Amino acid sequence: MSSLLTREEYQSLADSLPLPTNALIGGKSRAARSGETFETTNPATGQVIAKIASCGKADVDLAVEKARSAFDAGVWSRAHPTERKRVLRKLVKVMERNAHELAVLESMESGKPIYDIETIDIPEALHCLEWHAEATDKLYGQTSPSGDDVVSVIIRQPLGVVACVLPWNFPILMLAWKIGPALSTGNSVIVKPAEQTNMSTLRIAELALEAGIPSGVFQVLTGPGELTGQALGMHPDIDMVAFTGSSDVGRKFLEYSARSNLKRIVLECGGKNPCIVLEDAENLDVVAQYVTQAVFWNMGENCSSNSRLIVHEKIKERLVEAIVHKLREWPLGDPLDPGNRLGAIVSKEHFDSIMGYIKKGRSEGAKVVTGGNAHKSGKGCFIEPTIFDNVTPSMTIAREEIFGPVLSVITVANADEAVRVANDTPYGLAASVFSANLGKAHRIARDIQAGTVTINCYGEGDVSTPFGGFKLSGFGGRDKSLHAHDQYTELKTIWADISDPKVSRAIE
Ligand code: NAP
Ligand code: MG
Repeated sequence: MSSLLTREEYQSLADSLPLPTNALIGGKSRAARSGETFETTNPATGQVIAKIASCGKADVDLAVEKARSAFDAGVWSRAHPTERKRVLRKLVKVMERNAHELAVLESMESGKPIYDIETIDIPEALHCLEWHAEATDKLYGQTSPSGDDVVSVIIRQPLGVVACVLPWNFPILMLAWKIGPALSTGNSVIVKPAEQTNMSTLRIAELALEAGIPSGVFQVLTGPGELTGQALGMHPDIDMVAFTGSSDVGRKFLEYSARSNLKRIVLECGGKNPCIVLEDAENLDVVAQYVTQAVFWNMGENCSSNSRLIVHEKIKERLVEAIVHKLREWPLGDPLDPGNRLGAIVSKEHFDSIMGYIKKGRSEGAKVVTGGNAHKSGKGCFIEPTIFDNVTPSMTIAREEIFGPVLSVITVANADEAVRVANDTPYGLAASVFSANLGKAHRIARDIQAGTVTINCYGEGDVSTPFGGFKLSGFGGRDKSLHAHDQYTELKTIWADISDPKVSRAIE
């Protein structure tokens, strides 16, 4: 990984970088056919930084046509797996060379701290792409135990044209989670980033051309969800949509599929994730460090944010105190200053929504332990990390995904109650459990309805483990690991009769 630059060096990159604003279709940078654009704003300064192409149905049709002809021509879909691996690994190298530039583009649009993008998002995205690239020429098919008269071959084939519809909270990382396995398996991919965060994705698609990914195989369409996203969802010649975002929009993709061509839909959606800390948890200082990371990392704009702390009554006071203490190590301010751990909230609209939840928490009777206010940092959208105590499981702040820096502390009397409260949610993405009794922690992990449960730590596993949700948190598949390859492929059986023709047999 490249080392961090100074605040001044990042600012000078931000002031001088060319900003990619057009869609990338068929290997060319193109304005929307309609000529329409929309503004993208830096949430840390409130300034409009660029006007981005607003792609409509005509642009979607063109991109799908290019994607389909690349797929049918076999330039990528039938390329030798070793060749796809080589090119994807080259993409990793080219991205690595341009890491500072990508980080600045991403930070300017999202408000994310440059420190996180440089030290977590980009290294993890590169590792993810490298891992899936490496898997390309190592995955075998199967034969079935069907007897000596038959050769049965079970193979996986790429689906065809895959649309990836993405959120704004981890633009580069979510892109890597989707395109890694989708491109490794030979599909043509069309990416629609979230409206707020387009530029790092557009730049990566340019770099992909430089790395040798054929035109039409990795395209980017920018534009609003209701326009570009819906046109992708309804398109009759798209084979799959891989979506990450809210459960409400996820449902829409299932509807689009039902109303169009029954395209495959995989959804990674939101969460209201619990963190259970039992009475016997070891070293509350270390637990506090994980909890702080689990809820405030990326300003809480994180699908697996542990926004509900479900803690045993005997240790509650001490743990909350330790978390407040830890927060001193999380300076908030200018996202381009690598000393800051907390940046801006992605947009004014989302800022207002989080502040609305904080107001609601107060009015429903929860007690603010720390934070609770907008942070005065220039003209941008900044919110102090906020901890609510005395939260009951029925309060709005304990039920709805806030997607901001807000922790709700719920006190329980024992482990059974903790599990009941943890599962009392329509979501089921992630959870964590802290206890010195590993057997008990494992039993709780099995009882929790969530796709990933961490014990005595917080995280999402690594690229080798599947990630996705139960209940309203997901549908149809998993990101990461070899399981992700399954969702971007069709399973095919080829059955050949090889019995000896000289031996007579009855044909039914
Ligand atoms: P979102 O509003 O659901 O948007 C996600 C994507 O869908 C965006 O590209 C959006 O486009 C598009 N979209 C919106 N309305 C659409 C429509 N009617 N038809 C088709 N497409 C449409 O989510 P977000 O606000 O970007 O991200 C936050 C959510 O994502 C949270 O719920 C979070 O938990 C979830 N998330 C989940 C994971 C995971 O792995 N499980 C990871 C990260 C985030 P526009 O924004 O351009 O309108
Ligand atoms: Mg949105």
